[in-house]
Amino acid sequence: MLDSAAEATVIGGPSPLPEVELPEISEATTKNKRVTIADILERRRKAGRLVAPTAAGCDSGVFKGDSTGKPLAKDLGHHLSAESFHREPCKLKQAARHLKTPGIISLGGGLPCPEYFPINSISLSVPDYLHNPSLTPPEAHPAPQTITIGKYDTHPSAPDQKEYDLSIALNYAQAHGSAQLIRFVTEHTELVSNPPYADWKTCLTVGSTGALEQTLRMLCDSSRNDSILTEEFSFATALETAAPLGIKTFGVPIDDQGLIPSELDYILSTWDPSERDGKRKPHVLYTVPSGQNPTGATQGPERRKQIYDVCSKHDLVIIEDEPYYYLQLPPTTSPAASPTNTTDFLESLLPTLLSMDTDGRVIRMDSFSKVLVPGSRLGWLTASDQFIERFLRHAEVANQGPSGFSQVILHKLLDETWGHEGYLKWLMVLQREYTERRNTLLKACEEYLPKEVVSWEVVRAGMFQWLHLKHTLHPDSTTKSILDIEEEIFNSCISKGVLIARGSWFRAEQDLPPTGLYFRATFAAATPENMTEAIKRLGVAVRESFRLS
Ligand code: PLP
Repeated sequence: MLDSAAEATVIGGPSPLPEVELPEISEATTKNKRVTIADILERRRKAGRLVAPTAAGCDSGVFKGDSTGKPLAKDLGHHLSAESFHREPCKLKQAARHLKTPGIISLGGGLPCPEYFPINSISLSVPDYLHNPSLTPPEAHPAPQTITIGKYDTHPSAPDQKEYDLSIALNYAQAHGSAQLIRFVTEHTELVSNPPYADWKTCLTVGSTGALEQTLRMLCDSSRNDSILTEEFSFATALETAAPLGIKTFGVPIDDQGLIPSELDYILSTWDPSERDGKRKPHVLYTVPSGQNPTGATQGPERRKQIYDVCSKHDLVIIEDEPYYYLQLPPTTSPAASPTNTTDFLESLLPTLLSMDTDGRVIRMDSFSKVLVPGSRLGWLTASDQFIERFLRHAEVANQGPSGFSQVILHKLLDETWGHEGYLKWLMVLQREYTERRNTLLKACEEYLPKEVVSWEVVRAGMFQWLHLKHTLHPDSTTKSILDIEEEIFNSCISKGVLIARGSWFRAEQDLPPTGLYFRATFAAATPENMTEAIKRLGVAVRESFRLS
């Protein structure tokens, strides 16, 4: 029988993470060059085994490389809401930090003994993407690996002592999530974004849905007449998150690369509360830079920089919601365009807003939903220390961090089995899979949609193809509203056995009349045959509505 709480120490072990000299890494990070997987492996080797027992506190900063030469984030405390200001640290979570005191006997917290956890082990069968040279899709992979997670795998007497086990993962934990998984996402963030300021941090989230709700409450105050800016069509759930908080959303015009920086600048420069429902000039931008939901638009590198600069000029906090970031799809149908190794893959990815954030004004939300499993309800936030600290005070009382089942399973898969190399290979496989799916959908669109009425841009990331219908060509355009025509086509699709999303569901400003007719089709879910059949039926519905032959 183990009393893991009594043994608990904050991260430590043979050598606490990384208070060590790492010249290669410091060079990489100070010049904001790419950090490599080799850098991270070397850092881990020097740091030694990670010891983070039950409810261990963890500062994600200890997993980062040297930040010498990077500026500190700006103080953006004036953006916080009154609700956020008033949050106090959770007393019981703070008390758990004393568990690190050697020999302490805890009568303090309500942590049950793991011996009463009626789960002895969990076994998983997963594809081996670390050693899979051919990057084949999951069903084709010949030799799945079996991972077993035991209750006391971290105990020194365990035959193959591990860093994380069920006795820790299934107990209460700190709201920031386990050190074991925070280490992985922090390193991954360095590989991809290497934020150019010193005091950035990460913490785990209950997916981006939960993270957005907490972030909006952290930044926005209806009594202060706050509102947020977003793409003129935006993720419906994000809009539904803001509305009941009394936070109005205002749309920024978009083109095929998403949000238009000059329009953003114009809106902010000419903001007049009397014309904007009494709302003061917005201080928050919510944007989905890659494979935007619903339009599929992807901001190019230059576009991202311009958006960042406008936000910096007007002192906006940017919520960078990027669940589709890794599903970046080649512009052509040529498979040769795809990267063949993880270094090239990382190089091929568009720069994140976080990677250009010298001020600490980007709050980036990553999610495992679209690249691993949505049911994990797991993602992570990267932001300045100031924002992460306030976010965690909310997490402590909202959810106490993500589920331990999810954390331990993803840690075993990502950290212990695949490692960074294997995870990136998996992402490359997904990229190829989604490229094929997108191409199948586009082929069907070419074949079955009436091009005199329907147009589209080839989507460059994500899961959605946005379709524009020229409503002015509709025979009833003078007597029927756009919404009526949209509803007619939607209902006709349903009766023909196709569900497609109506563009109007995503309008940032629902109180204004729509100016265009759009539908969103996803290529994520259906089989290629069904996708083709669905587009064929959509084509029939559009032809019937527009009375085309
Ligand atoms: N953000 C955007 C833009 C999305 O499209 C979605 C899912 O559709 C989410 C967030 C939800 O992410 P999560 O599953 O991590 O809550």
